[in-house]
Order: sequence, then structure tokens, then C-alpha cells
Amino acid sequence: MDADGRDAMVRGQAASRRRRVLVLGAGLAGLAASEALIRHFGSQVEVSVLEGRQCAGGRVGSFQDPKMNMTVDYCQHVAMGCCANFLDLMRRCDLEAHWDVCSSLRFASRDFSNRLVRTWKWLPAPLHQLPILWRLPFVSIRNRFQIQIALWKIMRWSGSDCSDGVTAQNWLLAQGQSRDSIELFWDVFACSALGETTDNISFASLRHLFVDGFVSHRDASDLWIPRAPLSEIFGVELVTHLRSLGVQMEFGSFVERIDQHQAGFRIVTKSGDAYEADHVISAVPWHQVGKLTETITDLRGLKAAADLQTSSITGIHLWFDRPLGDWSHLISVGTATQWIFRPVWRSRPMVESASHQLDASHYYYQVVISGSQHWKHLSNDELQKIVLEEIRELSPSCRDARLVCSRVVTDPRAVIVCHPDVDKSRPPARTALPRFHLAGDWTATGWPSTMEGAVISGRNAVASLARQEGWDFSNGYAQPKQGWVAKMLVR
Ligand SMILES: Cc1cc2nc3c(=O)[nH]c(=O)nc-3n(C[C@H](O)[C@H](O)[C@H](O)COP(=O)(O)OP(=O)(O)OC[C@H]3O[C@@H](n4cnc5c(N)ncnc54)[C@H](O)[C@@H]3O)c2cc1C
Repeated sequence: MDADGRDAMVRGQAASRRRRVLVLGAGLAGLAASEALIRHFGSQVEVSVLEGRQCAGGRVGSFQDPKMNMTVDYCQHVAMGCCANFLDLMRRCDLEAHWDVCSSLRFASRDFSNRLVRTWKWLPAPLHQLPILWRLPFVSIRNRFQIQIALWKIMRWSGSDCSDGVTAQNWLLAQGQSRDSIELFWDVFACSALGETTDNISFASLRHLFVDGFVSHRDASDLWIPRAPLSEIFGVELVTHLRSLGVQMEFGSFVERIDQHQAGFRIVTKSGDAYEADHVISAVPWHQVGKLTETITDLRGLKAAADLQTSSITGIHLWFDRPLGDWSHLISVGTATQWIFRPVWRSRPMVESASHQLDASHYYYQVVISGSQHWKHLSNDELQKIVLEEIRELSPSCRDARLVCSRVVTDPRAVIVCHPDVDKSRPPARTALPRFHLAGDWTATGWPSTMEGAVISGRNAVASLARQEGWDFSNGYAQPKQGWVAKMLVR
């Protein structure tokens, strides 16, 4: 046998030893699982991703607005400094430069002009957060003291006491928090980060938000805001990176059924293509997984995932004829409007085009309303009208702004709700079938439905696969940073 023949034989033997892994769904969970698989076990696996749509990203995606001829995200996404695994993925895939880091929050309400609140990075966590509470004009002095005491109790609350089915609101009321503190402080943060107000989320999830997101480290509450469309970051750049590592990406491959086949699986897509795999990582959403697996007796329990309670998020895309202010974000308190973002990289001064057609150079803003199911009795036009009135009240410079174009986009199943019993319904990555693994922000990650939760879920699925194969994945996760004072204070 000549050298070429020997090489081919060696490659053939290596390939035959390789495990064929099919990842179903190219949302962030599926992409994170593929990255972890190829990085840790590149010589032992062949990884293919089957995605139903023509592009990757799932909920972290964008669309082309036909009127403004502009790529717009379905909804503004932000990460926080505490999202260790998400940021680790961005770093590893050279995508960090696509994010701006913002250490200050700008709050506004009808009764007070907007105020920028910076954390004191020169103090150790959690003391660096003092200005957030003490500089919020819409929280009374009395309520600030109350909130401070509750924050202390949250830090000192033993983690193991949190899973007793208590809603965050009941816990806060039991600690003597006033209705005002709940509405103007706790609900503002809970709704932004967890998609629901404190009456419908567990105390455990509220504690997680404040301990991990605000208390643990000086950088934990930094906002990471994308500086490019989500479709570019995840749909183009992340996919290009994964392809360069050897991941096969198949788009327009909507999986219709999965059957057990010999020791592995046979997957059939809507267009009739069939794939065989030793392992499957399902990274499709909770409302899809049951349909895919209904022929497999051991996985029938997954059907129940479709009953997970969900919360909707609405993005109101607004194009004005002038800037509304010199800020890039506003957190609005006591209004339907929760956040207003101005993606600066997208907005340019208005230029009258020759054809008098609207072009993408108008001032673009996006209003985000989490938990927008509470407004479902209103039509899109009615909700937009309320939001526009609020914007005009929030800042005098907004009053004369003329709306050029608008669009309301609601995802009714944006995130799952962290209600007190949710953890009983979120399955782990490992299933009754040793070679079938689950990923997705809805699985048991210890995190709410977020980009961080999705990335952790992808890594959990790889950990499950590695355990089954006897491979070492002990260094597969990024650990969140914790400051030394926080280490002493948080129980
Ligand atoms: C409006 C909105 C705002 C949000 N804001 C934030 C935020 O600011 N910060 C944050 O951290 N998180 C935010 N999130 C949550 C975040 O987007 C999600 O947690 C995360 O993207 C979930 O990723 P995933 O991969 O688990 O699921 P998905 O993104 O839903 O991916 C699932 C993929 O599976 C594919 N698929 C489904 N069925 C099939 C099938 N049968 N065959 C093949 N493919 C299939 C889908 O097309 C999709 O690409 C927001 C979500 C929404 C909707």
C-alpha cells in the first residue's frame, strides 16, 4: 500500500471511531453545544447541526424591515457581566468586539428628569452598588432603607431555603417591603431580567438575579449591548467560526421525527432527508420537543414541556426625525415602556433622499416591554400610542420629535416564567435514553430563559454526552467571578 493509501486508511479508521452527533436547532443553545463539542472532542466527534430555518440564531435574530430597508433585531438583547458562559463563548469565537460594555444605568420617570447612575467600581462588590439604590429619585428615603435591609437579607439567605415555592412578592411583603418599593424597585428589575413581575416569579429566581447580577462582582451588573445586528453576530459570524472548526451546518432542515435506530437514532426532515447519529442533542424549544420525540416511548414525558408557562416580550421599533436625547438607553419606571434603546451604530443624521423615500438614516429607537401579556387587551396601535405619549413626557426634547415609521413585534413565547414550581418541570440534559440529550434555555440550568441559560444548557448537553462516553468535560464551563467581600457576605 502506498503512503496515500495508508493515510486514507488511517483517516477512515479515525472516522469510523468518531461519534456522529446531530444537534437539532441552531439557536444559541445548539450553537453553544456544537462549539463545546468540537473544541473539547474535535478528534472524537463529527458534528452536524440541523436547523429548520434558513439562518441560525433562533430567538437571537433579526429581520429586514421593508419600509426602512434596514436590518432590525426582533427584539433588543442585552447580556450582563455575570453571564460568564455566554461571554466566554463570545471571547472564544472572537465576537467580543461586537458588544459595548456599559457600567451605568440611566433611569427616567414621569416626575423626575432622567438620571445616570454609575456603580462605584473603586469599591469592592457589593458596596459598589450603593449609588444604584441611593441615587434613584423615584424611591423615597424610607423605601431605600427598607430595600437596603431586604437586599442584606437576600445576601444572607441560605441558598437551600429558596426552593420552598414562595413567590418573590410574598417574600418581599413578609420582609416588610411596601407596595411602592415592590412596584418602583423590585418589579422594575424582575420584569426586565426575568420577564415577569414579582407576584409570578419565585423568591429563588429573584435572589439569583440580585446575588449573581448585582452583588457578586464589580463587573457583574455591566450591561453588554450588541453593536451589530444579532443576525450578523450569531447568524453569520458565529456560524462562520463554527464551520471553520469543522461543524457541518444544514439550514432549511426542519426535523419532523426521530426514531431509535440500531444503537443510535434516525432523523427525518420535512423534505424527506434522513440522517443517522450515535448521539442526538435536541436544542429545539419546549413547544417543539414533544412532537419530535413522540414515537420514542422512553421520551414521551417530554411532551409535558409544552405546558411550561411563558411570558411575552414586545419590541416597538420607532424611527423619529430627530434624536430624543444624548443617551443610548433609558430605563423607564412607572410606565408601560420599560427600556428605550438607541442603537447608536445604526442611527445617522437624516438625509433627504432624492426620491423622498424613507431611508434607514432616520433616528431609530426600540422600546422593550417584558411581560407584555399584561397589555394583551390592547391592540398594537393602542400600545404604541401609550408608549409614544410616555416617551414625550419622559423628556422635553422628545416632545417635538415626529414619528417617521414604526413597527410592533411581539414574541408571545419569548421566555419561560420562573414561577415558584418551574424547576419541577424543567428537565435536565440527561434523558431516559443515554444517547439523547437536551439543550435549550427552558431546560434545568439554574438560570432563567436567557442567552446565558441557553449557553449553559448547550454545555450541559455536552457534559451529558461526555459522561455517557467516559470523556472528561470537567473544565467545560466558565465560572462567574466573585469578589472577596461578596464571598464573605453571600451565604
Ligand atoms: C423578545 C425577546 C427578548 C429577549 N431578550 C433577552 C435579553 O435581553 N437577554 C437575554 O439574555 N435573553 C433574552 N431573551 C431570551 C433569549 O433570546 C433566549 O433565552 C435564547 O435565545 C434561547 O436560545 P435557544 O437556543 O434555547 O432557543 P431558540 O433561540 O428558540 O432556538 C431554537 C432553534 O431551534 C430551531 N427549531 C425549532 N424546531 C425545529 C425543528 N423541528 N427542526 C430543526 N430546527 C428547529 C428554531 O428555528 C431555532 O433556531 C429574549 C427573548 C426574546 C424572544
